[in-house]
Amino acid sequence: MHEFSAVSQMVELVLEEAKRRNAKRVLEVRVSVGKLSFLNPEQLRFAYKVLSEGTILENSRLRIEEKEGVIQCSKCGYKGGISVEDNPYYHLGIPFLRCPKCGGEASIVEGRDFSIKSIRIEV
Ligand SMILES: [Zn+2]
Repeated sequence: MHEFSAVSQMVELVLEEAKRRNAKRVLEVRVSVGKLSFLNPEQLRFAYKVLSEGTILENSRLRIEEKEGVIQCSKCGYKGGISVEDNPYYHLGIPFLRCPKCGGEASIVEGRDFSIKSIRIEV
């Protein structure tokens, strides 16, 4: 599953950082998720719960901040947001988007990322 591999990488990074700071445990992890990353927040939470078990991340809080996506059209040059909820491809998880203005093929400029914003630890 897409979410599991994303969270597994994220958990590894957090554990590394926590170790570097001599953390006893991690209290909270704040992540930013682009709406065009096609990562489902519910699935992310589930993956986080499973993958943090048995580590110093166990029982910590995962805060997810969703970021709007930005696309750019190769045909008319439109650059801006898109309502992914209305896009049938969103549900299929296929990153194929159409320009809301002219229907041309558009590519993702922003909103594909999944990154750690901050972590809160107990030392
Ligand atoms: Zn266009």
